[in-house]
Amino acid sequence: MSQTPWDDVDAYLCEHLVPSDDVLDAALKASADAGLPAIHVAPNQGKMLQLLAQLRGARSILEVGTLGGYSTIWLARALPPDGHLVTLESEPHHAEVARANIARAGFADLVDVRIGAALETLEALATEGAGPFDVVFIDADKENTPEYVRWGLKLACAGSVIVVDNVVRRGEIADESSSDPRVQGIQRALRVMADEPALDATAVQTVGSKGYDGFALAVVTA
Ligand code: SAM
Repeated sequence: MSQTPWDDVDAYLCEHLVPSDDVLDAALKASADAGLPAIHVAPNQGKMLQLLAQLRGARSILEVGTLGGYSTIWLARALPPDGHLVTLESEPHHAEVARANIARAGFADLVDVRIGAALETLEALATEGAGPFDVVFIDADKENTPEYVRWGLKLACAGSVIVVDNVVRRGEIADESSSDPRVQGIQRALRVMADEPALDATAVQTVGSKGYDGFALAVVTA
């Protein structure tokens, strides 16, 4: 018996809709063996990211927060053979593990893993004229999430989709007096998403194998 009912439900949903996958299992094993924390998205969340990118007909994807490349592989699966994905990671060891996982998954030619603090690599992407990206997935340090949303918008185009992970934080998001800088970062990011006229956004609470959390979803309208 697992720890919570939602662990059991996630196992049931994954068994029926997101069957075990050698490539992704190998990526998770290699990440664990290399000492990376198990803070990747759940399989059913990864599949949702893939389906969202497919719904958008994405040809270019930007990810902020690579870890071992687990969500990267899910997103890359939505791309056509000439698609492109840029993923940003500050920890060189994480990036090294991710590159190996992404190559094993067959996406070495489609995926560009950039090492550095995302605020700097985003600036560099803008300077080199990268984008527009059809999908932006934000899953890195929560304190800088408002800036990542602003950068995502700058590097997107009308119709692009921006997804922000971990926006509920066990319900702490509703505590306006929270002193947790990660909660405060997400609160500011949600305000950016609400106030920015070029974004139409919502957010959804989730429970599952990753606990009680949620994601925000925005469409770029102009
Ligand atoms: N998206 C990944 C997945 O689901 O497989 C999980 C990403 S993990 C939650 C967050 C990652 O962001 C970590 O690997 C961390 O090193 C990286 N990170 C933290 N701060 C960062 C920053 N300022 N710039 C770029 N990456 C950062």
